[in-house]
Amino acid sequence: MNNISVIGSGTMGNGIAHVFAQYGYKVSLIDINQPALDKALATISKNFDRQVAKGSLTEEEKKASLGRIQPFTSLKEGVQQADLVIEAATENLQVKLDLFRQLDEFSPENAILASNTSSISITKIGSVTKRPDKVIGMHFMNPVPVMKLVEVIKGYATSQEITDTVMEISSKLGKTPVEVNDYPGFVANRILMPMINEAIYTLFEGVAGIEEIDTVMKLGMAHPMGPLQLADFIGLDVCLSILRVLHDGFGNPKYAPCPLLVNMVEAGYKGVKTGEGFYEYTPGSKDLKVSRRFH
Ligand code: NAD
Repeated sequence: MNNISVIGSGTMGNGIAHVFAQYGYKVSLIDINQPALDKALATISKNFDRQVAKGSLTEEEKKASLGRIQPFTSLKEGVQQADLVIEAATENLQVKLDLFRQLDEFSPENAILASNTSSISITKIGSVTKRPDKVIGMHFMNPVPVMKLVEVIKGYATSQEITDTVMEISSKLGKTPVEVNDYPGFVANRILMPMINEAIYTLFEGVAGIEEIDTVMKLGMAHPMGPLQLADFIGLDVCLSILRVLHDGFGNPKYAPCPLLVNMVEAGYKGVKTGEGFYEYTPGSKDLKVSRRFH
């Protein structure tokens, strides 16, 4: 297994490409959007620089790693040599189903087709291909070069042999893979999102303010980041769409997204990516300022 194709060069795609290239794999990085590819290559280079400054990588290793990443805007060209494809495109069911139909057509017959989806059913994604036994979830965490976990999601039709191969590759990247079955939210988001939603309800109902809620969870539960700050970091639109998957998938009202979250997303306050969510973010500044809207 040597040739890896990563689809989507956004937040997650650039991190996944970074890690595979660092561990010696040849990476084809594919995006429909050329500026997104340019930005991803610049981000990867900057993140390698950080590792060089810390002494965890030499300048030569950085150059060699960057040289292993080749950008593509054509899906067909980018996956034709792939042993393993990791799809990290926009979290949208239709986008993923269209992509997997094409991946099945354009990538080699034996290639493993993985998705980094946070919540979409791997079983459903696999069902649009002629190789559902080779379709699997490979859920990396953000930021990918730093976070140790890979949640490996076995769809209903995924074979044990493919699951074992993906567990082994994840270990070779210095990660700790955990095998889970394919049910809404898998494990990570099934547990995390209800906590974030409850934190938003706590704010919505006026039990406490933003900083107070985050401080309780940081100092009381030893979480490195409070749930509201974490929601901003993940993206409030992403949190909302995962909660809707849990709500639809289980049909249980306990997963219903808080109306405040729905309002914020509809108004365009999506967290770090839009400059404001529960906190305000100024580019280049590390200061956390609570959004005045909730006082
Ligand atoms: P993003 O919006 O930063 O990037 C998505 C990229 O996909 C964009 O550059 C877009 O141009 C590209 N894209 C869209 N359609 C495409 C297509 N048909 N072909 C090629 N490229 C296409 O998104 P992200 O945050 O990197 O998320 C990507 C995936 O990773 C999603 O499934 C998300 O749920 C999952 N994920 C995200 C996080 C996170 O913290 N952001 C964590 C774990 C998993």
